[in-house]
Amino acid sequence: MLRLFDTAQGKVLPLELREPGKVSMYVCGPTVYGPPHLGHGRFSLVFDVLRRYLIWSGLDVTYVSNITDIDDKIINRANDEDRAWTDIATRCETVWWDAMDAIGVMRPDHDPHATAYVTQMVDLVADLLERGDAYVSDDGVYFSPAVVDDYGLLARQSLESLQAGARVEVAEHKRSPIDFALWKFAKPGEPSWPSPWGDGRPGWHTECVVMSLDLLGDGFDIHGGGLDLAFPHHENERAQAVAGGHAFARHWVHNGFVEVGGEKMSKSLGNFTNLLDLIDSTDPRAYRLLVLRAHYRSPLEISKATTDDATAALKKLDTVARLLAEADLPEAAPDPEALNRFRAAMDDDLDTPRAVALLSELRRRANTALDAEDDQDAAVAGAAFLEIAGALGLVLDTGGREVPAEVLAVAARRDEARAARDWALADALRDQLVADGWLVEDTPSGTQVRRA
Ligand SMILES: [Zn+2]
Repeated sequence: MLRLFDTAQGKVLPLELREPGKVSMYVCGPTVYGPPHLGHGRFSLVFDVLRRYLIWSGLDVTYVSNITDIDDKIINRANDEDRAWTDIATRCETVWWDAMDAIGVMRPDHDPHATAYVTQMVDLVADLLERGDAYVSDDGVYFSPAVVDDYGLLARQSLESLQAGARVEVAEHKRSPIDFALWKFAKPGEPSWPSPWGDGRPGWHTECVVMSLDLLGDGFDIHGGGLDLAFPHHENERAQAVAGGHAFARHWVHNGFVEVGGEKMSKSLGNFTNLLDLIDSTDPRAYRLLVLRAHYRSPLEISKATTDDATAALKKLDTVARLLAEADLPEAAPDPEALNRFRAAMDDDLDTPRAVALLSELRRRANTALDAEDDQDAAVAGAAFLEIAGALGLVLDTGGREVPAEVLAVAARRDEARAARDWALADALRDQLVADGWLVEDTPSGTQVRRA
């Protein structure tokens, strides 16, 4: 039984499904106005891991993640660069999916675009107005979340404390500082859609509540996103659903921040770091391994040292995957005890650091069994190793038989060290090759490397 921390309840709780065997998930996707940053990469990987684990556990998962393709940020960039807003949104969306493919994130079952749902959004606004929970102001239509009894649930704060905290904000167009826009009237030259109150565009919080309920229905199972979305975005989605008489998400799951140099990463702090740079400069699988090595609710430190370390760890995993592929091992089912330990770790609020430690343990065990020519244990441990890597979405390189260029380069450096009589360096390079799972031999023509 999977237990997850529920932000609304403030504790780890069993995942209770709306319908046995089926999981419906909505994860807030990007606003497409710039390149994806590392925080986007993290939430995408965290929820990809959760989704894959649920599928691996035998559940039928429906995964929805939206594209916010109309927003002030898109309009502002279009104005700054004198381009069509649709051009910004379309291009940034292409870059988004390319990046998701590169880091191995499964495509959603549905990827609703806000602009395709404007009619339904207008209907929701009309309903909230009719109920008396919203009002028309001079620049748009606003919602009063004070009508929702438990408003503040996801912020873990009371309505009073949120109101007190919000008073510093200027609230020219709204009755209360905590009110938010359901519909924004268009200024001259801005993209707009018709509505009974004036041409305009939907507010961000209205987009997600409409798309999630439309595709997944009332009381869907999991609503997820980065912790920065819990309040106000998710709280405001929830408030509209509750006011409109809908049961909303049963479980709220949020992942922690990415830290670069020890600070929370965000564009507003100026330490914005681009996911595309990471993909270009590193094995993209290293980011998944880094995400897995940290608990999803903990901060994730991204630095050259942590990415290098993850890349080195991946190499070791690849090496054993290759050795297993090349060994002529008997057919074997994965070690059931190892799979039970994997389940226990993941069911415990998705304890992926424990799952990764288990993966390393199985790698060592399979490697040792291969060395000892214990085919049976190599097969059983190796099958569990590959099964768990697959469940976590880590695609290991079982490669062809040829020795990769990077390994040959290490062998060449060792020959240079030997020629220079630098025995310490030659030994260190030899140890490195052996640690990566290679057989190393000295021959008259120099260092020969081959698979064990
Ligand atoms: Zn959202």
